[in-house]
Amino acid sequence: MAQSEEAYDEKWMKEAVNMAKQALGRGEVPVGCLLVYEDQIIGTGGNAANETKNATRHAEILALEEAMRWCDDKQLERGELFSQTKLFVTVEPCIMCAGALRIMGIKKVVYGCRNERFGGCGSILSVNSDELPSIGEPFECKAGLYADTAVQLLQEFYKGQNPNAPNPKIKASGMKDEGPQLQCPGDTDTKDQVETATPVK
Ligand SMILES: [Zn+2]
Repeated sequence: MAQSEEAYDEKWMKEAVNMAKQALGRGEVPVGCLLVYEDQIIGTGGNAANETKNATRHAEILALEEAMRWCDDKQLERGELFSQTKLFVTVEPCIMCAGALRIMGIKKVVYGCRNERFGGCGSILSVNSDELPSIGEPFECKAGLYADTAVQLLQEFYKGQNPNAPNPKIKASGMKDEGPQLQCPGDTDTKDQVETATPVK
């Protein structure tokens, strides 16, 4: 490709951030995810765990399903294509999604902020890089791109959802290194949020 990998990642991550913003506008957990193959989007997803009352409907899973349909429509072999597909997501994939991405053979993931409670790509477990041959080859992860924006969107969502809840324990600076204390993006149970949040006052 003509553009540098950095410019490529930035371009698509911006797109994922826009998707997260749109999700916020619809009252959904603001996480944006897309799968890119040869500079074109083949799958997109936003969390639907709330809407569907199904805790497994995470953005990454929906994006994978869309990409599978894309492959099937074009009669392309999924495994071969996924090995050359890059996933962009505004929040670190959880343990479940990291497992699914590895099983499906995605080789490169770029994510924004860390998920300190459920992260499967370095924060809680390293499903992406651990010695787990039975679930496929490890995949590469790049973290921190637009992390601050991703955190701000989540903060906005959780504040808007329950005006009486104390602010989630999210640091105002140094987020790239520290990572925010977030609940699973698919889990919007405010009770759980209150229990794990720290009042700022
Ligand atoms: Zn997930």
